[in-house]
Amino acid sequence: MVKKLFIPGPVDVHPDILQAMASPMIGHRMPEYAALHGRVTAGLKRVLATDGRVFLATSSAFGVMEGAVRNLVAKRCVNFCNGAFSDKWHDVTRRCGKEADAVKVEWGKPITPEIVDQALATGRYDAITLIHNETSTGVMSPLPEIARVLRNYPDVVSIIDTVSSMSALPVPVDELGIDCCIFGVQKAFALPPGLAVFTASDKALARARTVEGRGYYFDFLEFEANDVKNNTPSTPCISHIYAMDRQLERFFAEGLEQRWARHRQLAGMVREWVADRGYGFFADEPYRSVTLTCALNTRGTDLARLKKMLGERGYAFDDGYGTIKGKTFRIAHMGDMQRTDLEEFLATADECLVELA
Ligand SMILES: *Cc1c(COP(=O)(O)O)cnc(C)c1O
Repeated sequence: MVKKLFIPGPVDVHPDILQAMASPMIGHRMPEYAALHGRVTAGLKRVLATDGRVFLATSSAFGVMEGAVRNLVAKRCVNFCNGAFSDKWHDVTRRCGKEADAVKVEWGKPITPEIVDQALATGRYDAITLIHNETSTGVMSPLPEIARVLRNYPDVVSIIDTVSSMSALPVPVDELGIDCCIFGVQKAFALPPGLAVFTASDKALARARTVEGRGYYFDFLEFEANDVKNNTPSTPCISHIYAMDRQLERFFAEGLEQRWARHRQLAGMVREWVADRGYGFFADEPYRSVTLTCALNTRGTDLARLKKMLGERGYAFDDGYGTIKGKTFRIAHMGDMQRTDLEEFLATADECLVELA
């Protein structure tokens, strides 16, 4: 059975997008590709609110997350960790042979500007990694306030993951001064997995020029050299780029502000449902994510059973990530999800809960 996805990624993909992926193939050194690439990066610049470079990489997010630390950490990196993806990024940084420290907070808590300031005030670091929206815990860290702190450390390169937030709320890359903003497309962007997008500021590229061992596939300088020709260093996932082209048209047809408003509305619906049914929240206000809700299983529901029941009814449900499986569950409300999709899912979850009681 094809299940409707209420898990936090991959998320459901609109039929128009699947159709765009079936477009006839072109060669990536043909002018037709340069036109497509140029149109897509121009659209992405609007979404990211940047006049800087936007690069397309054929990989999942972790490809570029690894590439970014290989390119941008010269001295020592601080990885801010508050969940599974940010913990993993520290591991990845070390595996790339970089000097790195993890600053860990308890899962469910945000990274605050004070935490960032305290780490950077030591003067030990020339790069940071931070996840805007920790998808494993449903926590959104206060990026505008953190960005304000980063302004006091002009020698530090900021590498920010916006995998499950970009396009769901404003993340203006230039205004925030993000040096390298990274996201994969299968979450907030609602495309099939396999394409990642990233930016690199002048400061980031200047840093990359000083760093040895950047490798080839994710060498930012290779991306820069090809970008001026509206191209990529190696053969890109062209079908995906067609899909992005179509998705950007859909974004602008909906309107970016309407897209942000829709996410706020969906988040409100899920939070109300969670509270009304007597569950708690893993994250405190105001750090609850606008793209997924991580609920505390305070009712002691048999979540494995609930997942199975929902699965039989055609819905994919997430019963918690890793060590918080069973203690929490996550409901995604990202991508192109509409109010009616969510209403249908929550009504079905209610039926299952009645049966389970
Ligand atoms: C899913 C996710 C990732 C990992 O993405 P892949 O596409 O599996 O590499 C990284 N960061 C965040 C915040 C995520 O939600």
